[in-house]
Amino acid sequence: MFSIPYGIPSTRQSVIMSGSDKRLARMTQLWPTIDFEDFFNRKVKTQGYYNPGFDTWQMLQCTSDGWRKETESVANNRMLLSIHHPYVVPWKSLGRDQSSNFLDPNQAARSTSLQWLTDSVSRAKEQNAQFVLTHLTHGSGKPTPEQAENLASRSVESIARISESFNMPIHIEYLGYHPSFHLPEKFISALEDYPNLGLCLDTGHLNRWAQIHNMDPYQAASKLSPLIESVHLWNTSSNLEYRHYGHVPVHNSIDGVNGYISVERILQTIAPAKHPITIIFEPSIHSKVEEAFITEGMLWIKHLWTNLQDHAND
Ligand SMILES: [Zn+2]
Repeated sequence: MFSIPYGIPSTRQSVIMSGSDKRLARMTQLWPTIDFEDFFNRKVKTQGYYNPGFDTWQMLQCTSDGWRKETESVANNRMLLSIHHPYVVPWKSLGRDQSSNFLDPNQAARSTSLQWLTDSVSRAKEQNAQFVLTHLTHGSGKPTPEQAENLASRSVESIARISESFNMPIHIEYLGYHPSFHLPEKFISALEDYPNLGLCLDTGHLNRWAQIHNMDPYQAASKLSPLIESVHLWNTSSNLEYRHYGHVPVHNSIDGVNGYISVERILQTIAPAKHPITIIFEPSIHSKVEEAFITEGMLWIKHLWTNLQDHAND
């Protein structure tokens, strides 16, 4: 059984910051303009919601009527914007689960997802986004590894074409849930020939993949690092916790213990990359999540990442 580190009162005491610490946190530019209540409400509605990063916003699942307003409401001149596909939901009365079926053996399903991605990229272009990110998900069919690789390479080629035609980089998130297309090597061979495509390493999904397949997530991060252009940060200790509480915010107090992945070790592994990496925080928000817990975790990462970058430039 798991416990929620940021919800149970005894642990909570240790992560709650004093008023002045909290003000200090707000002053760091990391969490300066975020209205926690708005953040909370949008996450709960999963409508026009956003994730903060270092000088970056990630916007996703806006409404088809309000997407411009929803994006502009969090826009900030100092911040870059990235778009997590699907940008608008529903789209042509389709739900989110039909937006990224790029590994589905069904041709019509793949084609719909490609059209939808084109729509997201075109709106992202209008908003001057830095890049668009997508998952490669699959339908109910269980293709052989060869079929899956074939579907992946065809879909990635189409995604690269969309990226080129809009001159908009597209990042593919590393997800390890496909029955046969989940190894780092498969993602590398699918993506490595396309300079306009990048990989997004998501620490929570990476941990779940490592748990499911009994693999080493740090080795995987090291293999994938030449392709990594963005990182999604959250944590989870188990499938049960993931299903109940979604994305646990990253925090020093849980890092690398009791089934949680060490986000610190992952960042140390990928930091020597020669290219810039966009860091985005993806905490789930529910009644047990403290704003202070999230802020502390972000400041810890900021400190860590800054040190790693300074070191990399030596
Ligand atoms: Zn993610």
